[in-house]
Amino acid sequence: MSHTDASSAVVTVRGLRRSFGDHEVLRGVDLDVRRGEVVALIGPSGSGKTTVLRSLNGLEIPDGGTVAFAEGPLVDFAAAVASGRGARGGLPKAVRFAMRDRSAMVFQHHNLFPHMTVIENVIEGPVHVKRVPKAEAIARAEGLLARVGLAEKRDAYPFELSGGQQQRVGIVRALALQPDLLLFDEPTSALDPELVGEVLDVITELADEGWTMVIVTHEIGFARQVADEVVFLDGGVIVERGAPAELLTNPKEERTRRFLDRLL
Ligand code: ADP
Repeated sequence: MSHTDASSAVVTVRGLRRSFGDHEVLRGVDLDVRRGEVVALIGPSGSGKTTVLRSLNGLEIPDGGTVAFAEGPLVDFAAAVASGRGARGGLPKAVRFAMRDRSAMVFQHHNLFPHMTVIENVIEGPVHVKRVPKAEAIARAEGLLARVGLAEKRDAYPFELSGGQQQRVGIVRALALQPDLLLFDEPTSALDPELVGEVLDVITELADEGWTMVIVTHEIGFARQVADEVVFLDGGVIVERGAPAELLTNPKEERTRRFLDRLL
């Protein structure tokens, strides 16, 4: 991929720390994602990948560190939590909303509202959170559904769709928010093997169109194909990062090598 422009960071993460009880899940994570760049976050189960991703979307509240969006807030978590009056003493609502305004998450399980049709699911965020006029939101949603081959499913309910179709609607729902940054949390790990390809194809197309994304994935072949940078996380620290061809073929660190050997 060659959409990256080194001068334009979409998000800059510094020193993320997060503990649950005495379990230090993130121990100082730095991450830069530039416009048009695709970053694949890989690592063993429990290494902190999902926690990093959720921290970029206001879903997780780290104990310390900063997240700065190019066209949004600089969130200093320690300070925000100290001054916060939000739920659980967490991020103030305005900060959380500002982060959600910049990033959109595609979950492992699509998380569609079961009682809403496809189109209703897709326009929910734009209309109710972003205050986009309904007709405009519908027109945009129809365009996006057509792009992922689901125009005719507009009025279907989620239970009427295959897992792969549901996940494609999940992707469209994120796109409809027009975020600067798309976040994917193991988007294919809940799918039957024969449905994985259609979802990875959509994500690959988005990468080719220049969307900026961070993808947590166990699909190493996919990471090799789609990512500009692969980041290997283990035990809450970034052990190694680099171009896929280098890191996945010829890792410098023993821990990376052991992880990749186990996968192959
Ligand atoms: P990964 O995505 O790499 O599998 P996660 O970020 O999901 O890792 O989790 C890292 C560690 O943090 C795991 O050991 C997990 O059990 C723990 N963890 C995550 N969320 C919570 C939580 N809300 N409460 C307690 N422990 C948690």
